[in-house]
Parts: sequence; structure tokens; C-alpha cells
Amino acid sequence: MSEPFVNSYDPRVWAAAWSPQRSLDMREARRSSGRRQLVGIGVGGAVLLMGALGAWLSRPAGQPVVAASGEAAATAVPETQTVRRTLLLANASELESALQRFGLDAGMAGKVAAEARPALAPDGEVRAVLEVTRAGGALQFYRLQASNSDSSGAVVRLGEDGRLETSRLAAQVSEKIVVMHGIMDGDSFYTSAVAIGVPNSLISPFAKALAFDFDFQREVAAGDAFELAYAQSVNASGEAQGAPQLLYASMTTQAKSAAVYRFTPGGEEEGWYDASGRTVARSLMRTPVDGARITSKFGMRFHPVLHYTRLHGGVDFAAPIGTPIYAAAAGTVTSASPSSCAGNMVIISHANGMETRYFHLSRYAEGLHAGEPVAQGFIIGYVGTTGKCTTGPHLHYEVHINDEKIDPLTIQPDASERQSLTGAQMRAFEQVRDRIDVSRAQESS
Ligand SMILES: [Zn+2]
Repeated sequence: MSEPFVNSYDPRVWAAAWSPQRSLDMREARRSSGRRQLVGIGVGGAVLLMGALGAWLSRPAGQPVVAASGEAAATAVPETQTVRRTLLLANASELESALQRFGLDAGMAGKVAAEARPALAPDGEVRAVLEVTRAGGALQFYRLQASNSDSSGAVVRLGEDGRLETSRLAAQVSEKIVVMHGIMDGDSFYTSAVAIGVPNSLISPFAKALAFDFDFQREVAAGDAFELAYAQSVNASGEAQGAPQLLYASMTTQAKSAAVYRFTPGGEEEGWYDASGRTVARSLMRTPVDGARITSKFGMRFHPVLHYTRLHGGVDFAAPIGTPIYAAAAGTVTSASPSSCAGNMVIISHANGMETRYFHLSRYAEGLHAGEPVAQGFIIGYVGTTGKCTTGPHLHYEVHINDEKIDPLTIQPDASERQSLTGAQMRAFEQVRDRIDVSRAQESS
């Protein structure tokens, strides 16, 4: 249609455009609608404005359907105008009443909403663009486009024969890669990441991805640089859809540098790989709990509770009660039951005569039991302060090899442990890596 549009959130513009008494200068109306366009209006505001508009529409104007008498035609042919309005609804169930408030009669609002509803998600915001025509005083439904946040939805329009025609809109979700750079502040990785706007849900995965290369507590300091890349699905309007996914993490300290890429080899679990396609995972995670502070190292010490000098056979990580604790390596739970000193304790046995022990848990992961196989990084329980041998919330973590306690912090990264991808998997990895590197290069150019 070639009729002028009025597209505005402001009902005053509508009132002017629709006033049957006024001969309207559409250019002026369009300019003023542009000026009055409201940005980022909330649902409440939209509904409020719609209410005001509805009130205006329901004035006793009630013009009859185009009375094109010869006299009227001679002076002013009633101009057909199309008026478009964008509405944000909290969910699809609001559509019918919104159409009514907008000015459609109950019968038409019900029919149009019924046509659109099957294409709309039951939950989640709906964006509706409604177009109506006015010829003389009569208001007529012309077109509705109602879409979900992923841009899927339906278009309902009034056909030539007066029936409603409905077509579906396909989802338009694309993926973009976002690259971010940051510098460690003197406080924590968390605050350093938040400072540059890293999505909260990526902070823990970042630390876990690099947990095999860095002990964030001991080896990362203020001024060290980090970089990350993540994938984010966006709809046709560029709005984020669903959770972001971390693709790349790197850290550069004075002593060393490491960069890891997420990759899922065919038929296997996803994991982190260095730039040459070697798996980053090693026999043990160095820190089986997030954001922890080492409060007591392995070695002889005077025990604060037992009051005599003895071997502290593990490392203490102080962390708030409820902080998740991870299985340091894949293995089988051999015990998940309390003892008087260790409180709630988990023991996991691993390959090559290795065993890890976790003390003082506030609680076990739901359903955790002896005999259960666990993957590396699997949550086995939560930090607490249970048992007699503890003075505050922390994880006491032990590593035993062939029944001998060893210092978990002396287990050094060993590149020879890293297995490299080969063949088709290596080629697939290189594609994933190169796509991320291209985004990183664009970001820094
Ligand atoms: Zn301890």
C-alpha cells in the first residue's frame, strides 16, 4: 500500500492522524512522530499508552462506513491511511485483549489472535506489529505480525475476500562471536571480568578452562592479561537469545601464557584444547573448587584443633559454605559418608593407584553414592565446616598415590600427558580454532 504511515508510541500523534475533522499534513505528522518516538518503552508503558489510545478511539465518534456521497467526493475523497503500531506483550495470552484495546472489535480481535496464537511460544515476550486502515471514520484490521524473541511467529492479514490469511515466520537466530580483553585487578578474576562486562555465567567456565594451566590463587597477579571469546545467539533484531557459550580462554602472566579452545571431538565429550590440538585436561585439576583461597598448605603444622604438631596431609581451600566442589579427575566414588574428624567426606579412586579425598562438606551432591562413576569436574558436594577437625568453612583436599599422601600443589603440569587430536578430528578442530582466531584478529585490528 502506498498510503502514508504513522508509526509512533505516542497516542497524541495518532489522535491527530486519525481525527476525521482535520485535513492532515502527513509530512508534518511523520516528522513529529519521528521526534516523539520513544525508545525502550516497557510493557507497562505500552499498555498504558494503549489504554489512552483505546479511550480516544472509543469516543462517540463512531463514523459510518465511508459514506461516499457525490457531494463528499467532490470536496474531499476520504483518504485511506494505514497506521502501524508496535506492541510489546509479556506473553501471547495478552494478544487478544491488546488488539481490543487497540480498537479492533471483540470478534475481529478474537479471530486474529486465534490465527496467530499457534505460532507463538506460550511463555516469553511477544512483539506485535499491528496495522489498521482507516477510510473515512471506519477502522479496519489490515495486518498483524506477531513474533517470539527468536523472530519466529505469524503474519495474519486481511485477504481480498475478507478472510484472514495466515503465514508462519521462521526463527531467525544467528550466532556471533564476542571477543573481550581484560587486565587482572589486584582483587580477583571475578571482579576483573565483571569490570569489562563479561557475562556472569562465563566467569566460572573461564577459570575451569584454565584450571589445568594456572592456579588462579598463586600464579595470577594484578596486571596479568586475559582474553576470552564466546558465542552468543542473536535474533533478527540483534538481541541475545539463550545463554552465551565460552569458546576460548587465555591468560598471560609474567611467567607463562596459555590459551585454550573449546572443541567436541566426534563421539566424545567436549573439552579444552591448546592451539596445536592437544587436550588440556590432565590427571588432576589443581584446584577442585572455584574462587578458593589456600589457607593451609601440605606439611607439618601445629593443628589448631588437635593441639599437637602433625602432618597436614592436604591443602585447605577457604571458600563460602555452599561453594561447589569438583571431582579432581574422573574416577569412582568409593565413599560418601561422614567421619568424626573429616565430617561429610568423599573419597574418589582414580586410575594408577591415585585417590582424592574431600573433607568437611556441608552436603553431598544429590544422590552421590559409593560406586558411582564421576567425570572430571563433576560436582560431588559443597564446601562446609562439618566434623571435629575444622575451625571454619573450607575444603580439605588430599591426594594419595599408592596409599601415600602427597602435596596436591606439587603435581606439575606435564605437556607429555597431553594427547593430541589426529586425522579428521584434528582437521575439525583446526576449523573451530581458525574461526575463533579470525574473530580475535578482527577484534584487535
Ligand atoms: Zn586441612
